[in-house]
Amino acid sequence: MKQNCYCGRSNAYTACCGKYHRGAASAPTPEDLMRSRYSAFAVGDADYLVATRHPRFVTDSSAAEIAQSNVEMKWIGLKVLDAVQLSEKKGQVEFIAFYEQAGQRGQLHERSNFQKFKGKWVYTDGELK
Ligand SMILES: [Zn+2]
Repeated sequence: MKQNCYCGRSNAYTACCGKYHRGAASAPTPEDLMRSRYSAFAVGDADYLVATRHPRFVTDSSAAEIAQSNVEMKWIGLKVLDAVQLSEKKGQVEFIAFYEQAGQRGQLHERSNFQKFKGKWVYTDGELK
């Protein structure tokens, strides 16, 4: 049986977001990066989440905060609503991420901004919808 990646694509995790997590490749588009960051939340890869965020938005406590949120929240699905590349160095992705927290289901709807930094796409910030 073939299993989809956490990000919802029909590829297996190892052939999809897993290759970005283990450093075998860099996400080629903002959407690929966004999906791989969602999958990193799903598998609890805080290092990847810190490494793919623009350094301007990363603090010393970022990794610990992400690790804590991974304990509290279980990510159960992703829906990408829109993905645009605004220029060679800027893109936006709007998505809804579904989670369970303390037995309750919730969702996070965000339009995220991405920039190219040192040749790789990174997440900067986002607007909650
Ligand atoms: Zn994936």
